[in-house]
Amino acid sequence: MKKKHSKDDIIKELQSEVESLRTIISMMPGNVYWKDIKGFYLGCNSNLSDILNLPTPLDIIGKKDEDLLGEELAQKASLIDPIVIHTQQEQCIEETGFDTNGISATYLTRKTPLYNSKGKVKGILGVSFDITERKIIEEKLRVAKQKAEAANRAKSKFLAMISHELRTPLAGILGFAELIKQPRLEIEKQHEYIKHIADSGTYLLSLINSLLNYNKLETKKFELTLLPLNLKELIKSSMTMLTVSAQNKNLKLSLAYEKNAPELIISDSRILHQILINLIGNAIKFTHKGFITITIKCISSTADKIKLQISIEDSGIGIPVHEQKSIFKQFYQLGSVYTRKTSLTGTGLGLAIVKKLVKIIGGDIKVKSTPGKGSVFYFAVNFKKVSPSSNPWLPYAARVRILIVQDIHKKNNLHSLFSNTLHEFTTSKDSLNTLIAAHQDMQPFDIIIIDSKLKETDPSELLKKIQNQSELYQPMPALIDSPQSSQCKKNFCNLMLPLVKTDYFNFQNQLKNAWEKWQKNTKLLKTKTSKSKNPHVLLVEDNTLIQIIHKHMLEDLGCTVDITESATRALEMLANNYDMLFVDIGLPDIAGFELIKTIRSHKAIPQIPIIVLTGYSEEDERQRCLRAGANDVSVKPISKQTLENLINRHFKSS
Ligand code: ADP
Repeated sequence: MKKKHSKDDIIKELQSEVESLRTIISMMPGNVYWKDIKGFYLGCNSNLSDILNLPTPLDIIGKKDEDLLGEELAQKASLIDPIVIHTQQEQCIEETGFDTNGISATYLTRKTPLYNSKGKVKGILGVSFDITERKIIEEKLRVAKQKAEAANRAKSKFLAMISHELRTPLAGILGFAELIKQPRLEIEKQHEYIKHIADSGTYLLSLINSLLNYNKLETKKFELTLLPLNLKELIKSSMTMLTVSAQNKNLKLSLAYEKNAPELIISDSRILHQILINLIGNAIKFTHKGFITITIKCISSTADKIKLQISIEDSGIGIPVHEQKSIFKQFYQLGSVYTRKTSLTGTGLGLAIVKKLVKIIGGDIKVKSTPGKGSVFYFAVNFKKVSPSSNPWLPYAARVRILIVQDIHKKNNLHSLFSNTLHEFTTSKDSLNTLIAAHQDMQPFDIIIIDSKLKETDPSELLKKIQNQSELYQPMPALIDSPQSSQCKKNFCNLMLPLVKTDYFNFQNQLKNAWEKWQKNTKLLKTKTSKSKNPHVLLVEDNTLIQIIHKHMLEDLGCTVDITESATRALEMLANNYDMLFVDIGLPDIAGFELIKTIRSHKAIPQIPIIVLTGYSEEDERQRCLRAGANDVSVKPISKQTLENLINRHFKSS
């Protein structure tokens, strides 16, 4: 029989039930609260009482939003309450408030009508969850999505433009190739069409180079190489490259280098050179008569920095004001009277690249121009000054090997002068053997520096002995002396020890100048004598078209050429006394790198100069080839002139 409950039991049971419900509500996640129809709170969970700084959830009873949140938040918090009561439907909103630490937070709140036993609305039940984290992630995703969409749009636009730009010269090449196939075509016409094909090809190459450059800049792959450089010399050499184009149009190309602007600065010479070539090239292109002047002005100076303004002014066709901003956009070229007569003279990428390059070195390029009168492009950069501790030798420091001949007890005197250079010290007695051993190891010294005060040997005698070794790679001979007792010697490059011990800059500058002069002279000499023996060359290349082109070019340069497309076969053929090896990187059997490494690690294989001819233009790739043991790397397409230079540089005719 079922036990009958007493009234007390029922009350106790109900009280325990209420208690456990209260505990459940109190422990509920989020903020839970309920109000009567007039907005007076009837209860809440402990999360909300904590946020509102109330001692217990019971302390909320009888309060209104204004008492708890302040006027402004209270208004927002109770905004949808009348709607819930009136429509008797659940409402959901996002609202701002604070979290338990008093930090601003976003809440997702659901408000539901509460009914009495007669089914009439007696108030509102609210439940809020903190969604601040979610909102932050959502915002980040939104921004990322926007960026991705913008990048995608830019990429599509860029590709559409590239496709158009590439088709123009390609149409030229294919079109003229078609025309040249005609039977009985006059010889003049043939030459004319071939010239158009070559022009279109050259233009295509410059376009591809510009695109790669632009892409490099876009993907921030461009690495700055900050080294001391002579700005005046750099500008002059950029001008020299364009002198012929200026002369052809009778334009006066000049440089105004302000006296108080220093010539030596620290910057990236490649980037500066590229900027100058582009701007001077444009000035020549868009000027029909008059002048182009490059001006360097000093704007301000501090102890270690110098702000220089570089401007390129022309008396050309000018740019209308409303176009002056757009010319820095990629592929932008002016229309109508402002376009060039022929279509293959510009890519419309030059100024877009220049703008990025100027930014990379810390400037901002601007233009002032009057149509019909001319334009001036200018930018200012805060260059680092060259301090005595800068090292002008740095560009050569990692590849030019120096042997210093000194009496042993003096060894440490010169040490600091050669820090950060590839160098070895030796005594006069050991010097010849050291040179021969290095030559046999395929790591010859490029420079030999002899101390003028050797006790046992006369430097000139020593030099004669070295030069008598006709098999030996001949280093640049230099004599080092102190300025007080200097006795310049014939046949030597003369280097002065710095007056002040720490003036490394001066010394390294002398070394650099001497080395550059020496290289120039030996190149000239080699060009004159290189015809004495015809180089026997092995070409490892798998592309039949490139095989034909390079074979013809090499034969035109006097080489006898054998070809293989296999690296394995090349290893066998190398026994046939070749003078030089030209090798591609992507070969069908073994990669070019592996072939070079195999040759360099087997002394039984003749150790001849190896030149890589590759389609990869990245600097990493070049370094990889040199590390593998290649002597030089050249990027395809390769001109006959480049091949000639490579042969002159590496072919030892003796
Ligand atoms: P492009 O390869 O066509 O020269 P750029 O980006 O270098 O491309 O230049 C974009 C356009 O800006 C040019 O096509 C030309 O219309 C205009 N422009 C550039 N430099 C000059 C200048 N010195 N004088 C007049 N117009 C210029």
